[in-house]
Amino acid sequence: MEILDILIIGGGPIGLNCALEAQKNNLTYLIIEKGTIVNSLYNYPLYMRFFSTAEKLEIDGIPFISTAPKPGRQEALEYYQGITRQRNLHINLYEKVEKVTKENEVFEIETSKGKYFAKNVIISTGFYDIPNLMNIPGEKLPKVKHYYTEPYPYAKQKIVVVGSSNSSVDAALETYRKGAEVTMIIRHSEISKNVKYWVKPDIENRIAEGSIKAYFNSELIEIKENSVIFKDENGEIKGIENDFVLAMTGYLPDFDFLKKSGIDLQGKCLNPFYNTETMETNISNLYLAGVVCGGKDTHLWFIENSRIHAEMIMKNIISKK
Ligand code: FAD
Repeated sequence: MEILDILIIGGGPIGLNCALEAQKNNLTYLIIEKGTIVNSLYNYPLYMRFFSTAEKLEIDGIPFISTAPKPGRQEALEYYQGITRQRNLHINLYEKVEKVTKENEVFEIETSKGKYFAKNVIISTGFYDIPNLMNIPGEKLPKVKHYYTEPYPYAKQKIVVVGSSNSSVDAALETYRKGAEVTMIIRHSEISKNVKYWVKPDIENRIAEGSIKAYFNSELIEIKENSVIFKDENGEIKGIENDFVLAMTGYLPDFDFLKKSGIDLQGKCLNPFYNTETMETNISNLYLAGVVCGGKDTHLWFIENSRIHAEMIMKNIISKK
């Protein structure tokens, strides 16, 4: 029975960074990833642009060459998948980790394909797999999308975009520019302050001139085959014709998996417990890395500021050897 030094769950940018750090320190490791390499990025909108400049997305100091200051999805895929090939990182793909248990200081990791053993486990599973549902009637209709890929399917269609975050705003502007009739339904009184500073004036001006319709302080309450029903800011119930709903209502970490692994979830945001100096959870030798650390607060961590986790974890693991 092989016992790895480290098993890394999730092959996103931060999981890969942990693997690079393990490799540098001559630790045996394996990444288990349920999709392709950097699967979340693979599922991003096709024409998205990162808000970070390329050097802020670099891992292990490996230069990220981009043709523009802020790279797009395809360049990021080339970068992270290229590193995985070039550094020959040990990674199993299309294999989902289902359970992590610990006995006699050894973790047993059960996956969709087998069993593994490791002295340390790093959970770097991100938050992009579980949409934050509105839990309203009609949400399961096929015309409702929680992931937006590209504008072309929506040409000449009546679209409702839910939310006012970066994803909502990008989807609204792109579909509007491909000929969709776009209505935004927004819970808050204005476009989110987190929207990229160079995009915010564009959406605000499109709303002001009436090219994109927006209902602020409003809430979608039902989705039907050919219409949607919402409550506007005066509490009035309104219905409008509709072909597609782009519900850009955010995503959540897999809390069930974290709980099943024994990690304490705390407070309103279900923040998983970890030591902020070592990234170790309440279970010794079980670590968290990357955006999963924020719980429901998915704006807390991103690639830029969580790249540091890999080094912190490896330092702690080595100090215990
Ligand atoms: P992820 O990249 O989400 O990786 C987690 C991996 O774990 C996934 O590949 C997933 O398939 C895998 N996984 C999950 N569960 C399991 C399981 N049970 N078994 C096996 N594998 C599993 N950040 C920035 O710093 N700058 C930006 O400009 C930026 N732009 C963004 C734009 C968009 C549209 C979005 C959505 C996010 C953006 N972010 C940005 C945030 C950041 O890109 C992501 O959150 C980033 O992917 C986080 O990396 P991660 O490795 O922690 O998680």
